[in-house]
Amino acid sequence: SPVLDILIIGAGPIGLACGLEAKKAGYSYLIVEKGCLVNSLYKYPLNMTFFSTADRLEIGGIPFASIQPKPNRPEALEYYRRVTDSQALNVNLFEEVTALGESEGIYQITTSKSTYRAKHVIIAIGFYDVPNLLNIPGEGLPNVRHYYFDPHFYYKQKIVVIGANNSAADVALETYRKGADVTMVIREAELGRIKYWTKPDLENRIQEGSIKAYFQSHLTVIRENEVDVQTPAGLVTLPNDYVLAMTGYQPQFYLLEKFGITLSSDLRRHPFYNPDTMETNRKNVFLAGVICGGMDTHIWFIENSREHAVKIIRHIQAQTQAG
Ligand code: FAD
Repeated sequence: SPVLDILIIGAGPIGLACGLEAKKAGYSYLIVEKGCLVNSLYKYPLNMTFFSTADRLEIGGIPFASIQPKPNRPEALEYYRRVTDSQALNVNLFEEVTALGESEGIYQITTSKSTYRAKHVIIAIGFYDVPNLLNIPGEGLPNVRHYYFDPHFYYKQKIVVIGANNSAADVALETYRKGADVTMVIREAELGRIKYWTKPDLENRIQEGSIKAYFQSHLTVIRENEVDVQTPAGLVTLPNDYVLAMTGYQPQFYLLEKFGITLSSDLRRHPFYNPDTMETNRKNVFLAGVICGGMDTHIWFIENSREHAVKIIRHIQAQTQAG
């Protein structure tokens, strides 16, 4: 097979942004995605609204027209599909990258379907594939979920929502409004990072008792029909149908390690890259998008990481010219 200039792993917003820049610069490139187009966004809650305004979700300078300032999930899916089509981006879907080898300065990329060769590799694999686990007995039961999709399912069900940030807040409010009996279990003494327009709503529901909340508390066991909660006042057993653990997600560290990317040795596990060029410890292998934050998944989002695409392609161009 011919040697590509650039192979991009992941067709999230930032992988697509890299494809757009590669194309503009006239490089041969391929984006390889293990799921559907913008797979993470596809897996978001059905009714979610982005916290970013439409202009901040744009890639390659292509306008994202949305009537409301903040677009919802189907609008974002529409936008990224239209960008991919109108720019005729080279994207292979449902093809997972499993290994990254190298010989004489050329990378060999192994996927579930094929192998490719490329001079440069961009890793834009996001962080939505591995949930942060509770590591308590019962977590493997079928009534425990780390992804939330739709509130209707939880109508008239007793649910425990774990977490104190945006996802937990959205799940608690949405399921409460669709008839679920909601209890939040929050490790900290107060609510965490929640959109400024959502926070008062949740605070008021907690204050009036329509959503129950245990602060400075954590689950110790999940059983089929009840959970044990360690609270400051002692152990409480709650009848329960579903546990929604909105405890965040983490990058696929094992994959980064398999690709030979150095991670910081502290708990934050920041992957190594040069912030000017986005190049990792491996020459001509780059990181782009929210993967860059390691365990600090709140640092990067679309708005501030789409520029990674520009930095990388500029660096490749400068190198090519210098060479
Ligand atoms: P992703 O979108 O996660 O894309 C990574 C892609 O890589 C995925 O499609 C994945 O399937 C693919 N992949 C992974 N491993 C492989 C492999 N081995 N081989 C091939 N493909 C692979 N950000 C904002 O800027 N604004 C918001 O309003 C916003 N709202 C959010 C709401 C929720 C509920 C969540 C969870 C996140 C939100 N974010 C938001 C953060 C958002 O996820 C990221 O900003 C955005 O998805 C990052 O794009 P990305 O391309 O870096 O990663």
